[in-house]
Amino acid sequence: MSLPPLVEPAAELTVDEVRRYSRHLIIPDVGMAGQKRLKNAKVLCVGAGGLGSPGLLYLAAAGVGTLGVIDFDVVDESNLQRQVIHGQSDVGRPKAESAADSVREINSLVNVVIHNEVLTTDNVMEIFAGYDLIVDGTDNFATRYMVNDAAVLLGKPYVWGSIYRFDGQASVFWAEHGPCYRCLYPEPPPPGMVPSCAEGGVLGVLCASIGSIQVNEAIKLLTGIGEPLVGRLMIYDALEMNYRSVKVRKDPECVLCGKNPTVTQLLEDYEAFCGAVSEEAQEAVSGSTITAADLKSMQDADENIYLIDVREPNEYEIVSIPGAVLIPKGEFLNGSALEGLPQDKKIVLHCKSGARSAEVLAVIKSAGFADAVHVGGGVLSWIKTIDPSLPTY
Ligand SMILES: [Zn+2]
Repeated sequence: MSLPPLVEPAAELTVDEVRRYSRHLIIPDVGMAGQKRLKNAKVLCVGAGGLGSPGLLYLAAAGVGTLGVIDFDVVDESNLQRQVIHGQSDVGRPKAESAADSVREINSLVNVVIHNEVLTTDNVMEIFAGYDLIVDGTDNFATRYMVNDAAVLLGKPYVWGSIYRFDGQASVFWAEHGPCYRCLYPEPPPPGMVPSCAEGGVLGVLCASIGSIQVNEAIKLLTGIGEPLVGRLMIYDALEMNYRSVKVRKDPECVLCGKNPTVTQLLEDYEAFCGAVSEEAQEAVSGSTITAADLKSMQDADENIYLIDVREPNEYEIVSIPGAVLIPKGEFLNGSALEGLPQDKKIVLHCKSGARSAEVLAVIKSAGFADAVHVGGGVLSWIKTIDPSLPTY
């Protein structure tokens, strides 16, 4: 299924532009008309991280006239392994500004619009309305559903991508011509089931593989060439080295883009819709959460505690809290860790940020360890408040 171009061509290309884009201009399918469409195009990249990096760099080089970048975060050293739009001297700078500088360096003809803010239900509609196409490089489910809902409600297409370890996926969601993200994934995964890249890791170069598919699809949509990835999900396995695409059908019962939609405006709270942690975990942590400083004072006072790190061995190897015993979350979920727990000590759990330890807390409390607690904010909070000299990840 080919689709009409999203953007009308600009009136003309300057002599400089003809020189710069000559390798596009001599491709018959792109040609002068296609390049003029790119010049007139307004594209927004949500996130200047792993996927946004190649996305913004190649969209800028390709000559997309207006490039928006929205990101509220600052560049961290652990980003540099994959977020190639930022350099060492950008550590500590807002990502949106750092990314904009790189875009200008690659192509000064691009008009860069910086949105150095969090994308929220209050601003998403207004921001999206100013663009022809959205490229979604977000790394969490709450933002992903919000991006989808806003795009569908505004009738705009967007190019979606997702990455984890060695696996990537990409698609184009455009409710007018095919399915939306909710047709593919009607419900967010149960909290705690799908680890984020911060928890599970991601091969840096995977960002380039999936990000380049996203740019490829963006250019096709803007110029109206080729077969866009509408109604197809591209699945990439970097270890096996194969790409396969599977058909995704529009769900007539989709609550957003189906025949009788029940979601006709943005949800009030996407975080709540996706749930940071399960209800059981929420219940378990209430009144049973301590801070990293509390843990430090318990250790300093030589209290009778048993500190358990529920992360994975490779995470424990990177950084761990002194005195913590490693027992990964899975061993609690399958029950094997329970019989080895001491009955005469107070159990204190921690993970990276507090989500996994909350799930484990629910398990051990129901196994009878009623006075067990977990460290809110996990090892990250320990590093921040107790020992900033430790490596973070
Ligand atoms: Zn749908």
